[in-house]
Amino acid sequence: MSKESKSPSALVMKFGGTSVGSPKAIEHITEIVRKCRQEWDRMIIVTSAMAGVTNLLVESAERAIVGDEVFISKAEIELQNKHYSIVEKLVPSSAERAQLKQEIKHLSMEFANLCRAISILGEATPRALDAVVSLGERFSVRLLAGILKSAGFPAQFVEATNIVVTDDCFQAAHPNLEETAKNVQNILIPMLMQKQIPVLTGFIGATKEGITTTLGRGGGDYSAAIIGAALPADEVWIWTDVSGVMTADPRIVEDARTIPELNYREMAELSYFGAKVLHPKAVRPVVEVGIPVRICNTFKPEDEGTRVTKNNEVAPKIKNGARGIVKAVTAIQDQRLITVEGRGMLGVPGVAARTFGAVAATGTSVPLITQASSEQSISFSVPNESAEAVLDSLHIAFATELARRDIDRVWATDEVAIITAVGNGLQHTPGVAGQIFSALGSADVNILAIAQGSSKVAISLIVTAKDTEKAIHTLHQFITG
Ligand code: ADP
Ligand code: ASP
Ligand code: MG
Repeated sequence: MSKESKSPSALVMKFGGTSVGSPKAIEHITEIVRKCRQEWDRMIIVTSAMAGVTNLLVESAERAIVGDEVFISKAEIELQNKHYSIVEKLVPSSAERAQLKQEIKHLSMEFANLCRAISILGEATPRALDAVVSLGERFSVRLLAGILKSAGFPAQFVEATNIVVTDDCFQAAHPNLEETAKNVQNILIPMLMQKQIPVLTGFIGATKEGITTTLGRGGGDYSAAIIGAALPADEVWIWTDVSGVMTADPRIVEDARTIPELNYREMAELSYFGAKVLHPKAVRPVVEVGIPVRICNTFKPEDEGTRVTKNNEVAPKIKNGARGIVKAVTAIQDQRLITVEGRGMLGVPGVAARTFGAVAATGTSVPLITQASSEQSISFSVPNESAEAVLDSLHIAFATELARRDIDRVWATDEVAIITAVGNGLQHTPGVAGQIFSALGSADVNILAIAQGSSKVAISLIVTAKDTEKAIHTLHQFITG
């Protein structure tokens, strides 16, 4: 892919867990860096933890709470060995190998100490959890920078705790873009001017006081977008294990295809509604600066992947209705649909505000809201595991109205999935929704609720859990067939 920018050009590249998950994968990275080094003046790399490491860290913290010392000791060894084995395969110089192994050992000991502290206390605060789960990226950044260095590149690892400033909302911290941009100017730009390649920990930030935070699971993409916007970079490339954003999750639909181009809105909706390939929060920082994003495959770097830009054109095959407009189908599974209903609801003041106040009090996020045409009910979906707490909270909030029968019922369905069709122009193309519904109807998929309102590029439907795959396959067949 060619760059279209003034000089000096700047590229931010992020490598995900599988992209740093094996010696073979890291060899691909070395080749990618070699090629990009010829085409770009400045390059910043953001890396995830090796595949499986963050999960292991999360599980270790959970086991530490219940005092499972055996698990912690095993995890310590596993973490060490996983990273050592890469060093042994990819770092030829024995001095460099020893240095890297020393750093890995140091971090493994930090891991064990943190877990033992949690174990003694018998609890882990969100702050303590962040200290543990951030270790994955702290391992991988040293590994990747060390390997790139030994391959002859002027790579230097950087802890994002010195760059990305966040609030203290541990586990899902919000970045302060202004403060972050200052650090980028003061720390990263001088490195770039010296022709260095900074290799940053994704996923991690720190409060103003320097306490480590994380941006939420899958947040490495978000880090890349934040750094890209702060620089600002000409492009942000997300290297992963599939060749871009596809027409459906390739784990569910075998013949899913790469979508060559998406606009920011489409990408935002796709990731929000379940396409894990990009973190939903990663779109916002780049939209604001208008930086194109490319999503590409570390294992097939020659594939063009997907370009995400501000291009707002509607697909040319508009006369084909949904078939030409809808670009992809996504799903969020493990949800339940909660409904607050009653004929007296119209007279209840602030019912929606109180409903969502009661939901918010449980700390639950609501991916989808829909209102029945009669306006006598409000339905919304919540993750399965939060449903009982939400129902309890609603019963307490509306105890008086329920007793008076202004509200008849507050109830939840069995498990459901949110299926979303995404494509620019969806809302302005007559008949698209109808075509989608009839395709699903012909496949005997029952639609429990619909939401189209807030987004101009997506239609979401709720189906029962057992219909999820059928709904995805049917819609995928319909849009690509
Ligand atoms: P990384 O570790 O590189 O960040 P992730 O596992 O977070 O990778 O995201 C990539 C995965 O997203 C793919 O392997 C794929 O299974 C999944 N995925 C879900 N929906 C889509 C989609 N529409 N297009 C591409 N990948 C998708
Ligand atoms: N390592 C983190 C996670 O597994 C962040 C990321 O991979 O983007 O959630
Ligand atoms: Mg990811």
